[in-house]
Formats: sequence, structure tokens, C-alpha cells
Amino acid sequence: MKDKITIESKVHGFGLATRSRYNRGDVIHRAINATRFDAFHDRAAFIAGTMNHSCKPNVKLLLNDDVVSIVALDVIEPGEEIVCDYDQTEGTDGEARTCLCKTSTCKGTFHIRK
Ligand SMILES: [Zn+2]
Repeated sequence: MKDKITIESKVHGFGLATRSRYNRGDVIHRAINATRFDAFHDRAAFIAGTMNHSCKPNVKLLLNDDVVSIVALDVIEPGEEIVCDYDQTEGTDGEARTCLCKTSTCKGTFHIRK
């Protein structure tokens, strides 16, 4: 993601955004040679370190063979925080954390793998 920026997050600490506008279905980043969802974190830690969880994500991660793609679920405006559902990428068998996303569909917790 060559046009990424770090912003003050509405969810927690700092968050990830871009200077570009994306439409629903756009691939905003692609990590190749990934064999598992969590390989994304190894290959693209610069993103994983700043992308916050939200129960109302605006991107999802898709695994297709050895390619992990970050796909926009809705229009993402320049400077808008990019958030994903950690339960989608990390599973729900990890440590439960209190969610701070404040969305109307908040589940109250999300899970992270140790
Ligand atoms: Zn939430």
C-alpha cells in the first residue's frame, strides 16, 4: 500500500488510512506468497501493526492460494481509517479483548492470537 498514512484513530491509538479513494470491491493491498491468514502479519507487518479492529470493518482479507488481498467492503475516502474484523483474520479461539469500536453492531469483544 504505497499511499498509506498513519492517522489518529477513532478506535484506539493510531490507525491506518490512505491518501486514495477506494470503491467497494477494490483491492487496496495484496501480499503474495502467504500461505495462511496470519502470514499476512509476517509479510505485511507494517500494515498489521497499525490496522485496528472494528466490528463494522471496511475491509476484509481474502486468501486465494498463496495471495492475501485486502478488499474494500465499502467506499473508503482519503484519510478514512481502514479497519478489519480481527475475528475474521485471527479466529475466535484467541485471547478476548474488549472492543472499543463504538459501532452500532459492536460485539463487545474481539480475539487476538498470542
Ligand atoms: Zn466492536
